[in-house]
Amino acid sequence: MNNPASHRLAIYPGSFDPVTNGHVDLIARALHLFDNLIVAVAQNPSKTPLFSGDERCAMITESMRASEVVSELARVETVVFDGLLAHLAVARGATAIVRGLRAVSDFEFEFQIALTNRTLAPSVETVFLMPNARYTFLSSTIIKDVARHGGDVSRLVPPNVAVRLKTRFAKP
Ligand code: ADP
Repeated sequence: MNNPASHRLAIYPGSFDPVTNGHVDLIARALHLFDNLIVAVAQNPSKTPLFSGDERCAMITESMRASEVVSELARVETVVFDGLLAHLAVARGATAIVRGLRAVSDFEFEFQIALTNRTLAPSVETVFLMPNARYTFLSSTIIKDVARHGGDVSRLVPPNVAVRLKTRFAKP
C-alpha cells in the first residue's frame, strides 16, 4: 500500500561495503528532505563483498549511533535486499530513491539506472544529493585498499568501521 502523500519515505540503496563518512553525510541530508529513510544494503554476491549483508547493516546502525544523526535513528530502517530495487521501492511505498553524486564520472551510470528504475516504477523519483565537498573523493573501494595495506582510514569512516576493517585485515 502506498503511503499517504504527506508521508515522505525514501530508499537509499547501495553496497555500503563498508559505510563511509560520505554515506553518513548523505543519510543526514536525506533525513532533511524525507520523513523516513530505508537504507537498503544490496547483497550483490557478484561483487564478492568484504562484509556480509548483516555486517554492513550493523555497521550503518552503529555509525549513526556514533554520529550527529543519532537522534534521527528512529526514522531510519536498514534492510538487506536481493532483488530489484524498483520492486522494493514500490512494495514499501517509497516516494523516492536517493543516490549520491560525487563527480561527473558518477553521472552516466546513475542516469542510466535512474531511467531504468523510472520505467520499472514510474511513481518513484530518483533524487541525487551531493555530499560535503570533503567527502567527494571517498569510496568504499578506496577505503578497503587503504585499510588492506595498513593505512589509517580513521578520518574517512566512522570509528566502528575503522575497528572492523582493522580486525578484518589483521595479520594472523
Ligand atoms: P553502489 O555499489 O550501489 O554504488 P555504494 O555503497 O558504493 O553502492 O554507494 C551507494 C550510494 O552512495 C551511491 O549513490 C554512491 O554514489 C553514493 N556514495 C558513495 N560514496 C559516497 C560519498 N563519498 N559521498 C556521497 N555519496 C556517496
